[in-house]
Amino acid sequence: MKTDLSHTLFVKAQQLIPGGVNSPVRACKSVGCEPLFVKRAAGSKIHDVDGNEFLDFVCSWGPMILGHNHPAVVAAIEKTLQDGTSFGAPCPLEIELAELVIKALPSVEKVRFVSSGTEATMSAIRLARGYTGRKVVVKFDGCYHGHADSFLVKAGSGVITLGIPGSPGVPEDIVRNTVSIPYNNQEILEKTLRDEKLDIACVIIEPVAGNMGVVAPRPGFLQKLRSLTTELGIVLIFDEVITGLRLALGGAQEYFGVMPDLTCLGKIIGGGLPVGAYGGKKEIMDNIAPDGPVYQAGTLSGNPLAMAAGVATMQQLSKLDFYDDLEKKAATFADKLAEIAEKYLPGQTTLNRVGSMMTTFFTPGPVTDFESAMAADTEKYGAHFRQMLSQGVWLAPSQFEAAFISAAQSQADLDLALDKTEWSFKKLAQEQKSR
Ligand SMILES: *Cc1c(COP(=O)(O)O)cnc(C)c1O
Repeated sequence: MKTDLSHTLFVKAQQLIPGGVNSPVRACKSVGCEPLFVKRAAGSKIHDVDGNEFLDFVCSWGPMILGHNHPAVVAAIEKTLQDGTSFGAPCPLEIELAELVIKALPSVEKVRFVSSGTEATMSAIRLARGYTGRKVVVKFDGCYHGHADSFLVKAGSGVITLGIPGSPGVPEDIVRNTVSIPYNNQEILEKTLRDEKLDIACVIIEPVAGNMGVVAPRPGFLQKLRSLTTELGIVLIFDEVITGLRLALGGAQEYFGVMPDLTCLGKIIGGGLPVGAYGGKKEIMDNIAPDGPVYQAGTLSGNPLAMAAGVATMQQLSKLDFYDDLEKKAATFADKLAEIAEKYLPGQTTLNRVGSMMTTFFTPGPVTDFESAMAADTEKYGAHFRQMLSQGVWLAPSQFEAAFISAAQSQADLDLALDKTEWSFKKLAQEQKSR
């Protein structure tokens, strides 16, 4: 595979941008190679600057559920663009997207748009603290909620990928108000929430974890979390930045039938443009400025291009059978993937899947929390990643991320990915034997 131009660009980028990238995992450090620079993407494929074509399972880390450059989304952006790119004043598209979100997400009565998932989660905890008058945020080990100070305690995604325990630059005074507990452990959850010395404002959770690799909630775990938080007057926040509009139009809350007080959205809701949102019960949302005292603002919030992309995306997702079709496609693919893994690497991998998000962990498993995810053999994942890339399949450059199925992937695309996986797993098995 020719990568000369990407290499030249990476050398130059490293002189200008820290690590040569604007988001750390993109640097591909944990998989032992250099990043490829992308020229364009369409449907299920990504094309790099050296002319290589890849079948994309990263989907821009989640947003591209319709595939890249979906014609309806492109048309909506182009049409909106004719009238200007930012007004700093309300525009009708904000109402359109708000109506779609409120209709789709069962627990959301009012919604505020921001420009990223990070902004959504940090605003949601500020609101929960302002509303309850309490301080402490409870989160779960291995969950990632963006890069705001309060969340950089045992966080997932790039924080685990790079092996950073937390982050310098985050004052102890801030993280003292964050308590991180194991995912899927009801006993510790109950003990923590009932601890009267802790002045708990909210619990924030990825209702399906996607940032330590995919980890599903144990049956009853979300229900227990809901009943405890209700009983104790603690605000329950679902960080649905990945799962919202991914597991169902109504996100994980529709999928599992558990309603949070506040919901954070991002990724898919912008259709590939920078959008985040947080919403929930009127009673809580009415505390946000200018109706209430909890401040939150944004120069580009509700940006017309981003709103247009979000509306067009949600219209596509609202089509009959969209999620049933995606589920069937993902289930068939995952079953075959697990079969191939068992054939060549018996007892050495674990495939976790919920809907169209999945991770093959290089560990016998089961993978149910941060600790069991960390048992994965990241060297082996790195080798698999490089082999797949050489064969034209673009996986996440980290063991601790999800692979996403999109509506744009055809049966032929998925069959090809399975063939390449079989080749790669077979190679890993042979190398293991010869060692
Ligand atoms: C990606 C992600 C975020 C952060 O969103 P950004 O748009 O990257 O700031 C927050 N929470 C979850 C669950 C995410 O996956």
